[in-house]
Amino acid sequence: MHKRKLIDERFWTKVDKNGPRMRPELTPCWLWTGAKTRAKKGRHGMLYSERIEKPNTKSGYSDITLPAHRVSWEIHYGPIPEETQVLHKCDNGLCVNPEHLELGNQKKNMQDCIARGRGNKSRAPRKRVKRTDAIWMQQNKPHYTCEQLASMFSISLTTVDNIVNKRGSYVRLEERAKEAITPPSPTAV
Ligand SMILES: [Zn+2]
Repeated sequence: MHKRKLIDERFWTKVDKNGPRMRPELTPCWLWTGAKTRAKKGRHGMLYSERIEKPNTKSGYSDITLPAHRVSWEIHYGPIPEETQVLHKCDNGLCVNPEHLELGNQKKNMQDCIARGRGNKSRAPRKRVKRTDAIWMQQNKPHYTCEQLASMFSISLTTVDNIVNKRGSYVRLEERAKEAITPPSPTAV
């Protein structure tokens, strides 16, 4: 259980409402000024929620963080149903403007990848996807649509579909790569 009131208060200290206007029809983005995921691609804001004890680690604790845009959704609209993504209409991962957020069904979104790819005339070139990138996509798919992943990594929707739905050469990547990727951790800004 998160300390709801505290989270709300801290959320508002890390919001800059004078962000860029990504498209003419949209209001300005609200930029997250707090901690962000370390990943170079598809970064999003993070809010610390609580610290838990983790005996077998160097520091002895681990900080639990919440994606800032999901916190924004819950503050403005209420709880997010299970297996539901909060997507950015503005394609700006660091934006927490509730007007720019919308819910998406993660499973359906990913299953629809191929169907939508067929209607998409522009084709990204065939390209080898690095195993670390593929694992990153499998781990982070709850936060993105397949279109966003395709453009972030400059690959086709078909390739995204194969990766996120673990087909062909993208089966059991994590098990095969013992050097599993460390989860995104906060960076001070
Ligand atoms: Zn925005």
